[in-house]
Amino acid sequence: MSRQLESGISRRKLMGGMAAGGLLLGAPALVHARQASAHVVVVGGGFGGATAARYLRRYLPEVKITLVEPAQRFYTCPFSNLYLAGLRSWESIGHGFDGLRKLGIEVVHASAEGVDAAARTVRLSNGSTLKWDKLVLSPGVDMQWNKLNGYDEAAAELAPHAWKAGPQTQLLKRQLEAMKDGGTFVMTIPENPFRCPPGPYERAAMVAHYFKQHKPKSKILLLDAKTAFSKQALFMQGWKALYGEMIEWIGQSDDGEVVRVDARKREVETAFGQIHRADVLNVIPPQKAGFIAERAGVSNGSGWVPIKGDTFESAQVQDVFVVGDATIAAPMPKSGFAANTQGKVVAAAIAAQVRGQDLPAASYANTCYSLIGPGYGISVAGVYRAENGKVIEVPGSGGVSPLDGDQRFRQAEARYGEGWYAAITADIWGA
Ligand SMILES: Cc1cc2nc3c(=O)[nH]c(=O)nc-3n(C[C@H](O)[C@H](O)[C@H](O)COP(=O)(O)OP(=O)(O)OC[C@H]3O[C@@H](n4cnc5c(N)ncnc54)[C@H](O)[C@@H]3O)c2cc1C
Repeated sequence: MSRQLESGISRRKLMGGMAAGGLLLGAPALVHARQASAHVVVVGGGFGGATAARYLRRYLPEVKITLVEPAQRFYTCPFSNLYLAGLRSWESIGHGFDGLRKLGIEVVHASAEGVDAAARTVRLSNGSTLKWDKLVLSPGVDMQWNKLNGYDEAAAELAPHAWKAGPQTQLLKRQLEAMKDGGTFVMTIPENPFRCPPGPYERAAMVAHYFKQHKPKSKILLLDAKTAFSKQALFMQGWKALYGEMIEWIGQSDDGEVVRVDARKREVETAFGQIHRADVLNVIPPQKAGFIAERAGVSNGSGWVPIKGDTFESAQVQDVFVVGDATIAAPMPKSGFAANTQGKVVAAAIAAQVRGQDLPAASYANTCYSLIGPGYGISVAGVYRAENGKVIEVPGSGGVSPLDGDQRFRQAEARYGEGWYAAITADIWGA
């Protein structure tokens, strides 16, 4: 029996077709009927989900595709640090869903509240229930409130995380603007895994750029629960070159791990009891998969979602596919680029299953550009594939920018970063 015929969708459609018609349809007609009547629901219109919806439409033109996303407009975390720096407007990082609607994807602005995997339904906040044959979840991350002592939703209104682009990012920008010259910006950084490994260090550079223009006597203190971080040597080199001593990084082994937050006093306490006081406090707390993953039964005790490396189908629930930050896909990082390539693999896998074709070989890629200052970019890249059900890095692929890259090299990477943003957002939400 082919893999496709084992799946729920094919067995039910096959039996349905036999019962309704009272005879066996010819194979092409059966496949056609199956495609036309199938319904794929995608939850989450961010990097992974909107990509999956768009490529499903491309690969399965006759299948009904519904995208469920509460936001009317999606603001990207990529380039939100540039917004903090004053290098990007808020609207330039916002994207609507009309491009997806034009392709015939039904976009429902609601939140998915519950999934019944046995009944194959998803319940929405607007009171409706959608039936699906295949379900794709790309809910991104949720914060683990109170895992870091004292940091809950109320605390985030005083000491923003700004780790989902939206009101939190705008709040952090307002706080930076209101801060006096000579103040201290403190950022606390969690252990792995978390969304966007290089993101905190790019943010430090972008805040430093803003301070250099407007509040040059100010300081930036990074308190990190890790002993090392992504592109560390490149970041430290760039920080020093552009901002001198403005940025100080304290790793876990030097008492950088924060164990308690007092958002009202804007104070944090480290593992060895040291208190640091901030004028602006940015707490990036521990994270987990978006809540719908747990309700769908696809996450495990880690809070994240185990997947099959060749399809990104849940390892726990058949016909539910999960992409993006919610998944356990290491060595792939939790990045928008990774979510985009995972969304394409899921679309191809679902198309193959619906059509009764062999699965295409999965291939994934990632490049994370970080901007240290205007005209100063660095990057890390990797290529990945599936092996024995796991995602592995293709040996010898990828790498980071050279440490001895000259000014022209850094300038070129800053331009590539701009080009990457324009290309990926057009690929996902474009007209
Ligand atoms: C400061 C910062 C900078 C970054 N810079 C980069 C970068 O330069 N390059 C890069 O590749 N990555 C970057 N990232 C990482 C990138 O933002 C994420 O990896 C990416 O957004 C993950 O895509 P996703 O689809 O998993 O989640 P998201 O893009 O967050 O999308 C999730 C969507 O699901 C929706 N949703 C959640 N729950 C539900 C529900 N129950 N029902 C319906 N909808 C729901 C949400 O509203 C959201 O729109 C950065 C992240 C940060 C924080």
